[in-house]
Amino acid sequence: MANSPPIPCPACGGSGQLSSFKGESRFFLTVEECPLCCGTGLAEETPPDSGPDPSTQAPR
Ligand SMILES: [Zn+2]
Repeated sequence: MANSPPIPCPACGGSGQLSSFKGESRFFLTVEECPLCCGTGLAEETPPDSGPDPSTQAPR
């Protein structure tokens, strides 16, 4: 039951890549694979017990 939409990685914004300027030249753009999502651009699945969810409260 995968009803929840995919969550974009907060580190790379869902692109799966992290761009950063390295070296002396600021025009040298280095693109690296996002270590948080391993380049998938999607955040890891949140644990089911992340917090109280009012929508899952069982009626009395
Ligand atoms: Zn990422």
